Parts: sequence; structure tokens; C-alpha cells
Amino acid sequence: MQLLDGKLVSETIKEKLKTEIESYVSQGKRKPKLVAIIVGDNGASQTYVASKERNSKAVGMDSDIIRLETTITETELLDLIAKLNNDDTVDGMLVQLPLPKHIDANKVTDAILPHKDVDGFHPYNTGQMVKGVDTLLPATPYGILLMLEHYNIPTVGKHCVVIGRSDIVGKPMSILMSRNAYPGNCTVTMCHSKTQDLNSYTLRADILIVASGIPEMVTGDMVKPGAVVIDVGITRMDADNEKGYVIKGDVHFESAKEVASYITPVPGGVGLMTIAGLLMNTLNAYKKHVGIEEAYTV
Ligand code: NAD
Repeated sequence: MQLLDGKLVSETIKEKLKTEIESYVSQGKRKPKLVAIIVGDNGASQTYVASKERNSKAVGMDSDIIRLETTITETELLDLIAKLNNDDTVDGMLVQLPLPKHIDANKVTDAILPHKDVDGFHPYNTGQMVKGVDTLLPATPYGILLMLEHYNIPTVGKHCVVIGRSDIVGKPMSILMSRNAYPGNCTVTMCHSKTQDLNSYTLRADILIVASGIPEMVTGDMVKPGAVVIDVGITRMDADNEKGYVIKGDVHFESAKEVASYITPVPGGVGLMTIAGLLMNTLNAYKKHVGIEEAYTV
């Protein structure tokens, strides 16, 4: 079994981005700029946003976090997005989910200009992705493609089973793994909460991508020997330690690692790749914005 090391791969990508951004700045161009909006004080969301800011600064980007009270109205949030859409110094923006119940998350993500939508959630970007046109991809599936590419994992003709059909992970992941490109060209089966006899699918998966949000639901006996296992899950569970919690993935790592050929750990796997995907998207958005032709593709 080989570990798919999100720390190693994301650091490699960050080094590449840092060098590239330094070269643009040395040519007199401004730095790329990412703005993250967070509403409320959800602990996990605060951690994610802080990590996005820290990592974007580490590669030489400008980065702002706009922190808003949960009492903000939908209209006020949409007005702020409109202002950032019109701000020529902002290349990419994201609104950290989840949002309070009185705000329609779809309305908010749809309000971001598609070419600044570095989370890749806007329907325009979704449509381009479905059509196989280069575009800003949802950051987590994009990060997983970058991981597969880094380790040269063969995907052509493989059976990829995706557990989960969310708009941000399962659905786009299924589309990307079936596209006519590398990584891709898989035969994809998408499983979800109504799938019957889940094991009969997982046991036939050459590549198993799990995004159910159910901690450790996939155990070793559900994994085909030699499969590549990608664990997207991140659940905070109460624990008697300093932090007061531990992070669990959707895969039972200890049993699955005995069967898999490659496997991502949690933490240290897909979470870090999501940040890498976000940074790649931000640099691509910047390059389009300032008129640099060659953007990254996967
Ligand atoms: P979600 O709750 O929106 O979707 C979960 C999906 O799992 C649903 O489509 C549901 O049909 C499916 N599902 C639920 N129970 C199932 C079962 N018993 N069998 C088969 N399918 C089942 O969640 P999400 O936003 O896609 O996130 C999934 C997990 O990934 C969560 O733990 C989340 O925290 C994590 N996540 C991690 C990252 C990252 O960067 N690593 C990014 C996004 C989400």
C-alpha cells in the first residue's frame, strides 16, 4: 500500500505556484488576490478560511478574509459580492459554506462572477465542466485530479465508484472521472444514500472515492484488493484531547489500507488538495484577468 500524501503533493504544487507568481511580480505585474467571505463563527469554517488565507499568502498572493455576523441579510451579502465583482483588484472570491438558514446558498454562489468563482460552484463553470471545456473546477474534485495526476495513477478504462452525489464533491467528481481526458476516461458508478447493496458496487471499484460524510463507513471488507481509495470525508468527533475533537474520514483507514494499493489519509489527504485546487483556480483566474494566456489544465 502506498500513501497518497496530500501534504507532499500540495507542497509541491505550492512551490510551483510561488515561483510562477514571483516571476509575474518581478515583471512588474500585481499579485493575484483572493477574497474569502465567512458568515458566523462555525469552528470548522473558521479553520478552513484561515488555512485558505495562510496558504494563499504563502505562495505570494494577496488574501483578505471578510468576516460577517450571522445577522447579515441575504441582500447585504449579495451587495458585498456585487462590490467585489466590480473590484478590479480581486481575481478570485469564495463564500465559505454552510451559510445561515435565512440565506440561500445557491443565490449567493450564483451571484459571484463565473471568472472569479474559484470554488467552481457557479452554474456557468458547472456547465463548462460538463461539456469538457477548460474552466474553474470545484476545488475538491480538482484537488483529487491533481493528486491522481501527481502519482500517475492509471484511470483509463477503470471502474470508478463515487459514493456521494453532492453538488460540491460527488456529482462533479463523477463527471470529471468520466471525461475524455487524463485523469478520467473511467466507467463511473455514482452511489448515494438510496443505493441498495452498496458493497456490490464498492467491491468492483478500481478507484473508490468516498464523500458520504459518514465517518468510517467504508471498511476494508468493502474494498476490492488493489483498489485506489480516496477519502474525502472530514468529520469532527468529540474527543478527550487538547482540541476536544478528532478528525475522521469516511473510510476506516486501518482496515482499508490492508487491501488498497493507494489510499489517502485523513487528515493529510484530500483536505490539503482542496486548498491546492483553490490556489490553482485563483492563479488561473488571475492569469485570465491580467491577460496571461497559458492557464493550467488537468
Ligand atoms: P453531503 O452531505 O452534501 O453529501 C453526502 C452524500 O453522501 C449524499 O449525496 C448522500 O446521498 C450520500 N450518502 C449518505 N449516506 C450514504 C450511504 N449510507 N450510502 C451511500 N451514500 C450515502 O456531503 P458533501 O458536502 O459531499 O461532503 C461529504 C464529506 O466530505 C463530508 O464529510 C465533508 O465534510 C467532506 N468534505 C471534505 C472536503 C475536503 O476538502 N476534504 C471538501 C468538501 C467536503
